[in-house]
Amino acid sequence: MSGTTQDDYTDRYARRVRGMTTSEIRALFSVANRPEVVSLAGGSPYIAALPLDAVGEMLGRLAAEQGTSTLQYGIGQGTAALREHICDVMSMSGIDGASPDDVVVTVGGQQALDLIARVFLDPGDVVLAEGPTYVGALGVFQAAQAQVAHVAMDSDGLIPAALAETLDAVARSGRRAKFLYTIPTYQNPAGVTLTDARREEVLDICAAHGLLVVEDDPYGMLSFEGGAPRPLRARRRDGVFYVSTFSKTFAPGLRVGWVLAPHAVREKLVMASEASILCPSAFAQSAVTQYLATMPWREQIKVYRETYRERREALLSALADLMPEGTTWTRPEGGLFVWATLPDGLDSKAMMPRAIAARVAYVPGTGFYADGSGTAHMRLNFSFSAPERLREGVRRLSGVMEQELSM
Ligand code: PMP
Repeated sequence: MSGTTQDDYTDRYARRVRGMTTSEIRALFSVANRPEVVSLAGGSPYIAALPLDAVGEMLGRLAAEQGTSTLQYGIGQGTAALREHICDVMSMSGIDGASPDDVVVTVGGQQALDLIARVFLDPGDVVLAEGPTYVGALGVFQAAQAQVAHVAMDSDGLIPAALAETLDAVARSGRRAKFLYTIPTYQNPAGVTLTDARREEVLDICAAHGLLVVEDDPYGMLSFEGGAPRPLRARRRDGVFYVSTFSKTFAPGLRVGWVLAPHAVREKLVMASEASILCPSAFAQSAVTQYLATMPWREQIKVYRETYRERREALLSALADLMPEGTTWTRPEGGLFVWATLPDGLDSKAMMPRAIAARVAYVPGTGFYADGSGTAHMRLNFSFSAPERLREGVRRLSGVMEQELSM
């Protein structure tokens, strides 16, 4: 809705919709997609790196040769063939012995988060999450009318002592914390990774407090420097939900993700999914199954990794060369994002219209906190633009910042 349109439905909306507001930032993003704007704002993978002709041929054959099943309804949990492949994919990350029966195929990782929220969250429940955290998860928790308590991070990821303190504070306030939502590896938006030692500590604290863990791991395979630490779910299975997706390792347009759930919960997740979407797309699932079975997908992940490693280097060296003094940033060892902290006095949200006018876009830090804090930060994406575009984007951005600082 634009600011000029009268909304006659306001007093009829459900309570959960009341917190859903259109921000000026969202309006600016439509401008950010114009070709003259260097967008450091999105989270899109570099799909042009895929062998598109071969993928196209494969998709055509799926319709022509298997259309009676690939274009038909399927079952709510997702096809057995894909769930088996998913278990193989997870074993590459160190999650061994998962049963396909405990996997639920979802419409991207996003729907997995939504299902977990539907099954576990009552209005007023508390979810613990890193501060900052994934904006799409905040949307899910807000729609469930849950409250988010942020837990501080440093360059080693979530701080265990801060987790314990936040849990105590929630308990003292008489509220109930249901789960910790965490992106331990190549975090979105912060770009940091939880160390091995801290993974054990975090799991111990959660177990001691009876807190479930929702581990969101879309980026674990996109490592630039050796492998990622083993997922939390590889270390402990009780009370840990593992969410991942083919969006970053294959293609987000197919919208295929999954959740590996404790056995007792899996059926509830399936019922919640059926109530919402009946079943995930049979065609998209067949496409992913066929891709994994017949195409060199491990090689493709290497292509993504190498492309993103080069782009990360380009972004980091542009930041080092061009950013005004007092700016700091993280150095991600994988994934898609750098988190920058601005010099004193700068406000990333207030600066956004000026940045767009200078033909560069980023995501202001405020999007990643439930309480709208984060004005001193911004998220910069390096997966989508070529190295020279990234440098040009940083040049424009630093020009805007210099100007703000001189005002
Ligand atoms: N979790 C995180 C941390 C993400 O960054 C994203 C996408 N950017 C998702 C979940 C959802 O991804 P998808 O629905 O495409 O699988």
